Amino acid sequence: MTLIVEKLSLGPLETNCFIIADSECNDCVVIDPAWNANKIIGLVNKRGWNLQAIWLTHSHFDHFGALGTIIKSHPDLPLGLHVKDLPLYQAGGGAANWGIPIDNSHQPTLWFDQTINLNVGMHNFIVLFVPGHSPGHVAFLETNSNLLFGGDVLFQGGIGRTDLYGGDFNQLINSIKLHFLTRPNDTVVYPGHGSNTTILAEKQYNPYLT
Ligand SMILES: [Zn+2]
Ligand SMILES: [Zn+2]
Repeated sequence: MTLIVEKLSLGPLETNCFIIADSECNDCVVIDPAWNANKIIGLVNKRGWNLQAIWLTHSHFDHFGALGTIIKSHPDLPLGLHVKDLPLYQAGGGAANWGIPIDNSHQPTLWFDQTINLNVGMHNFIVLFVPGHSPGHVAFLETNSNLLFGGDVLFQGGIGRTDLYGGDFNQLINSIKLHFLTRPNDTVVYPGHGSNTTILAEKQYNPYLT
């Protein structure tokens, strides 16, 4: 029983979209459908996976740019978001500042402030509430192998911006210390931008955490 992790870096900000799938039942979930729906859905279909839901770590536009197009072919797909990021989602996730049109018409139905335990096939996930980069930012921890889908909280050698709407530097550092650094050292962090990393590497080398 393996959790397959596919990573696609997409769109104007090279945002990481993850497709995670149970190798036995072929259920899959898309975390942060960043951009280029054809690439995302093309890979899902090519693998013969069944798309069960979309989970958003937070609602900056570059993390859901493909959502509107995906929903056209999957109109009933559950969309997960934390309620504290709903105002940002409704405002288009900041896309207007970039002059980029965004489709945010699909309404969330899965609320990460209420639903804390998730699954993809036989794989269990816990929703971690990690605000600071945005007010309702969450991360998804796969509890068996310690895989952490962290969005824009912790990067290889960096942390998320806190100068955008609702950002708070102290809150972000607190979220990282409370929910990331307390994980086992070999926990793999899959960030919203850039290369994967581990908790150990960031404890040792991240200049924001020393
Ligand atoms: Zn962001
Ligand atoms: Zn981002």
